[in-house]
Amino acid sequence: MPKTEFDYIIVGQGLAGSLLSYFLLKAGKTILIIDGAKEKTASKIAAGIVNPVTGRRLVKSWRVDEFLPFINQVYVELEKTLQAKFFHHKTILRVLANEEEMDFWQKRKNDFEYENYVAILPKNNSINPNINVPHGFIEIKGGGYLDTKTFLDSYKIYLEDKTTIIAETFDFSQLIINENRVLYKDFTAKKIIFCEGYKAIENPYFKNLPFNFAKGETLQFSSKINLDDIVVKGKYLVPMQAPNEYKMGATYVWETLEESPTEEGKSELTSALKSIINLDFKIISQDAGIRPTVKDRRPFIGFHPIHKNIAIFNGMGTKGVLLAPYFAKHFTEVLLGKVELEKEVDILRYQDFILPN
Ligand SMILES: Cc1cc2nc3c(=O)[nH]c(=O)nc-3n(C[C@H](O)[C@H](O)[C@H](O)COP(=O)(O)OP(=O)(O)OC[C@H]3O[C@@H](n4cnc5c(N)ncnc54)[C@H](O)[C@@H]3O)c2cc1C
Repeated sequence: MPKTEFDYIIVGQGLAGSLLSYFLLKAGKTILIIDGAKEKTASKIAAGIVNPVTGRRLVKSWRVDEFLPFINQVYVELEKTLQAKFFHHKTILRVLANEEEMDFWQKRKNDFEYENYVAILPKNNSINPNINVPHGFIEIKGGGYLDTKTFLDSYKIYLEDKTTIIAETFDFSQLIINENRVLYKDFTAKKIIFCEGYKAIENPYFKNLPFNFAKGETLQFSSKINLDDIVVKGKYLVPMQAPNEYKMGATYVWETLEESPTEEGKSELTSALKSIINLDFKIISQDAGIRPTVKDRRPFIGFHPIHKNIAIFNGMGTKGVLLAPYFAKHFTEVLLGKVELEKEVDILRYQDFILPN
């Protein structure tokens, strides 16, 4: 008889659902995963960059000193467990847009808060000659990228071995919520946790949370630019594992949930690419996805204010690779009753949105 009783049902196997299931399984819990098995999702098409210092003013990413050592440990542990390579440490070369950015950088350089992330460039250091550098560049240390597709594919194989995965779109009309359990078709669990990314918009329990979804498009291209580092200049270029192949991204478009790649996206990315590199390139593919971004830029985690056995783990925004491991472990400890949920990420900060009058 196939197993029908679980501790948790997790809906969605993107970065969020995968990492949460990983920590729950490690804690000895039983899990049923339901995932729509879509070929293109935000997690699958993301460049997966972790960049500790971002923005025009070159400031540290939120709590990066805490999250970065943690993800280094988790992804390496996952690589060992899954016997696959997907987390790549890389220097990030930030091509400066103007003198103002250089001024910000001069300030950061002497600030001890930034010493782990600022590389002091040797005199006469030069960037790859195939990259245009009109105002100089700087090196950012401590970053890299997660090859999200390889991670998710190998993690799925691991899950198939450890637990039950159902490839279908979750049908809310089949969900029954009792006081101590939830029932879904032939299955029961103590709790159900929704990790649906932007599809939370269709979730009757959480659709009113103040998301601010952002569509993004990427290009995969080939070129002989011979680049081993990540280059960032408004957009980013990431060297792929295949020789002479790179990923470039990304665009930002708000207020659309239309998931297909567009001509506008392609044209924005190709003209940015032409300004960054000075060699020919050939486009291999174009992808699009919707980021589960949030108005206050903090994840959406926690329990429904009325139905305590319904939870959400979402809102990783533009930084799922950096945030999801830390908060997956944290939420696991919350579910195990070991710690209180951090207020800053708790959805109850928006209780009035979840339960409108
Ligand atoms: C173009 C682009 C570039 C990005 N670049 C980066 C980057 O460089 N670095 C970084 O850290 N982040 C980046 N991101 C953001 C990152 O992708 C997200 O933070 C992260 O992937 C969110 O993961 P998720 O699991 O919450 O959502 P998703 O990836 O959307 O996963 C949700 C999963 O749930 C499934 N699902 C949804 N609803 C249902 C349902 N009803 N029934 C069954 N299954 C369901 C979906 O099929 C999917 O598998 C980028 C995003 C985009 C779009």
